[in-house]
This record gives sequence, structure tokens and C-alpha cells, in this order.
Amino acid sequence: ASLAALDGEVPGPHRVADRHAATPPAAPGAFQNTPDTDPSVPANRAWVRDVLARVPGSTLGQATIAQARVDDAGTLDEVLRSAQAAGRAWGARPAAERAAVLDRAGRALEEHRGRLLEVMAAEAGKTVDQGDPEVSEAVDFAHWYAELARGLADVDGARFVPAALTLVTPPWNFPVAIPAGSTLAALAAGSAVVLKPAAPAQRCGAVLAEALWEAGVPRDVLHLVQVDEQGLGRDLVAHPAVDRVVLTGAYETAELFRSFRPDLPLLAETSGKNAIVVTPSADLDLAVRDVVQSAFGHAGQKCSAASLVILVGSVTRSRRFRDQLLDATASLVVGPAHDPRTQMGPLVEPAAGKLLDGLTRLDAGERWALAPRRLDDEGRLWTPGIRTGVARGSRTHLTEYFGPVLGVMTAATLQEAVALQNDVAYGLTAGLHSLDRDEIATWLGTVEAGNLYVNRGTTGAIVRRQPFGGWKRSAVGPGSKAGGPSYLLGLGSWQPGTATQ
Ligand code: GLU
Repeated sequence: ASLAALDGEVPGPHRVADRHAATPPAAPGAFQNTPDTDPSVPANRAWVRDVLARVPGSTLGQATIAQARVDDAGTLDEVLRSAQAAGRAWGARPAAERAAVLDRAGRALEEHRGRLLEVMAAEAGKTVDQGDPEVSEAVDFAHWYAELARGLADVDGARFVPAALTLVTPPWNFPVAIPAGSTLAALAAGSAVVLKPAAPAQRCGAVLAEALWEAGVPRDVLHLVQVDEQGLGRDLVAHPAVDRVVLTGAYETAELFRSFRPDLPLLAETSGKNAIVVTPSADLDLAVRDVVQSAFGHAGQKCSAASLVILVGSVTRSRRFRDQLLDATASLVVGPAHDPRTQMGPLVEPAAGKLLDGLTRLDAGERWALAPRRLDDEGRLWTPGIRTGVARGSRTHLTEYFGPVLGVMTAATLQEAVALQNDVAYGLTAGLHSLDRDEIATWLGTVEAGNLYVNRGTTGAIVRRQPFGGWKRSAVGPGSKAGGPSYLLGLGSWQPGTATQ
């Protein structure tokens, strides 16, 4: 039965081909990144207004998708066994056929951009400037993994054997791009998928699944499942029919999954505690812009967010840098995602635990350069905070708060700054602002993170151009990068023998 997730959508947006004329035309079939919605086209602005007008003003709470709900172990077992059988048949189809379905899926996601923006705003508090590139990324994943699937068939002398069944457990912070990427990769590789959306982002999962079914992904090959995490969550992860689990979430969740089933084949991208280093050679205006965007985009709720800025040498004393950073941060407009004026939306869930500490409690020696303020009763709307005097080895230095709070650290030299970056147990993203070639080379050679950004913010990796994956405690499993050339290989195995396709 239809989930009705796509009914009554505002059609759009309007593409103006010649606005992208700077991009060279692709050779037929060659992958190209999808452009975001162009706000300079008046019709697109009107379309965004119409999309936002459909987002309810108050939070929706956690939706229940009745058709996806599984409440007993017997039904779960049936779903997983039938998905496994369907996966074997899907994996036996020629890779080119699967690739064609994936390309159709990419077009379907583009067609449903409006509905995706709407549910991301409603459930995850995503403003359009954050959500729109996320849809583009999901579309990119479809076309890029289609291309990789075609490549799988080209290898002679060895046969790629896909996992029969992949369980996809995405986070709520990128409630479209991440489940889309993991699901599409597994489908491209030839595996069936059981998609369990994050609890706060069920409708995003439903819209995604419905778009993929509409594009021709067979119903028995892609299952949308909603379970009570405290109840059937363990049975789902530990079920013997599950060949792979693709997890994006906290490092602790990966450990929990492993405790459910020690031999679990897990591909996990986990937590981060990421810093941008600013040296005296940097373009300070650019650095301020990138630090603010990386720290406070989507209210800091990204694994890739910069939650530390490390100032080197004379930058530690630069009034100009300090004043601009505070001004730019304090001037961010905080509000609900459906209000077009909003620059920083709400937290997905009311601040609690570690994050509430991060927003309210200082450690020894720290001061608020900008103290966060709570703007609503629920605890989801906060103004951004900046804490200075952050000590090496402190909680603010080493703990991921996952919210709109930035710590400022200082270092005498670039080497010292890199040591502060590398002290962290995680290694997801790292940034450097410097216009000095030697500094850049030293930094690239010594910093320990999966994704390194020079003179750019640390969020917003781009499919194929900037594959995204972690190092140290930011990855569990093979560590292959999403959106990169080898991602599908983790979703199956190579066996000697002749290629069959
Ligand atoms: N790929 C996202 C980015 O580059 C981050 C994903 C995450 O937060 O898990 O910003």
C-alpha cells in the first residue's frame, strides 16, 4: 500500500539551464554533480515559499508510519527472511539493470525535492539552505552509485558477490542524504535493504522509500521498518539474515551494535570532534565565515561540524578576528525552520545530557564570549554559544557536544595546534586556514582525520569530489568513504571466478 508520503506535493523547482552554463557539458552517461536550487530565479523563491508554507509551525513529534511499524519478533523475522530471499534475486540481476533503476531513483528524488525539503524542515528543523544541498547529495548518490554498479560488471577474473541483505540505520541530522546514500549503495551493489529511519525522522524515511519504490526499486528489495529501539532494536541488528549493517551515528552506538552481535559486519561512520586551525597567514575574513558556517550550520548538529577553532600565534591576540567572529555569530537569526528569515534552526530534540552541559556549564578556566540563551520552553531553540579559555584535555576539548557551541583554543605554533587536533579520539573532519604553502603541506602531512579541508569549511562533502569517511574513532569497519570510488566494495565480497555479467 502507498504510504501517501508523496501526495499533494508542490511541484518544482524551476531549473534554468543556462545558469549552469559554466559547467562543461558532461559526456553522455558521465556523472555530474546536481546543482542546488538557484535562488536568483524568482520562480524558485516563490516555490520555496510555497514549500515552507506547508511546514507546520509547531513540532510534529515522532511520526508513526503504520505500514512500516513492526512490533513483534515473529513479524520481524518474516520481513528479514523475505528481504534476504529478494536480495539474492536482486543481486543476480545484471548490474546494468540495477544501475538503470538507480538512475531513475535519482530523477525521482529530484522530482520530490519539495516534499523532501518540507519533511526535513518539519521533522529535523532543517532550513532550506541546509536541506536543499542535502537533496542534491541524495540525487548525486543515486547517479554515482549507478555508475559504480556498472563498473562492478567490468572486472574480469573475479566475481563480486553482494551481501544479500543490508540493514541501514541512519541518523536524524542528515535525514535524507545519509539514508539515501547508504540505501542506494547497497541497492547498487546488489543487496536488499531494510531501512530503519532514525526515530525523529520517520517521515523523511517514508518519503525517501516511496520515491525509490516509485522509481522501480521492488517493494520486497527495499523495506521500510520502524521498530522500538529499546524493544526489537537488538533483534533487528543481531538477526542472522542481516549480512551488513550500515550505521551512521555515535561511536557508542557502533559499540552497542557490536555487543549485540560480536561478528557483525559493520560499516559505520561515527562521531567527530573537529577543529579548524587559523594561522597568522590566513585570510581572516574567510576564516570567520567558514568557522561560523561549520560550527553553527544546522545548529552544529553534524558529525562534520567544527566545534573548536584553534588560533595560532598572533591570531590569538587579533581583536579584528575576535570581534568579527562574535559579531557574525551573534547576528545569526535563530528561529523555526519554516520561517524564511531563519539562519539557524532548532535542535532536533530538546537539549539534554552532554549537550545541555555544553550549552550551560563552563569548565575550569573557561568563559563565555557569547553565552547561549534558550528561546523556547521546550529547549530546542538556542542562540549560539562561544566559550574561550578552553584547556587542553578538558571536556570541551575532547567531547562531542553536537550542538551550537564553539570552543576557542590557542596554540603558539602550528605544530602545537595539530597536536591539539590529534589529541581527540575521533578523526572525522579537520580544517586549516592558511595562505602559506609550507604550513599547508606540514598540516596535511600530520593531522589525523578522514576529511581535510584547507581554506574551506569542514561540512558539506560533495559526492565523488570529496568522498566522506572517518579515521580513528570516527569509523568502525572497512572505513571506505561514502561517495567515493570504492564504497560499494564494502557491501559484498570478491570471489575468484569469472564475472557473470
Ligand atoms: N557528509 C556530511 C558533511 O560533509 C556530514 C555527515 C554527518 O554529519 O554524519 O557535512
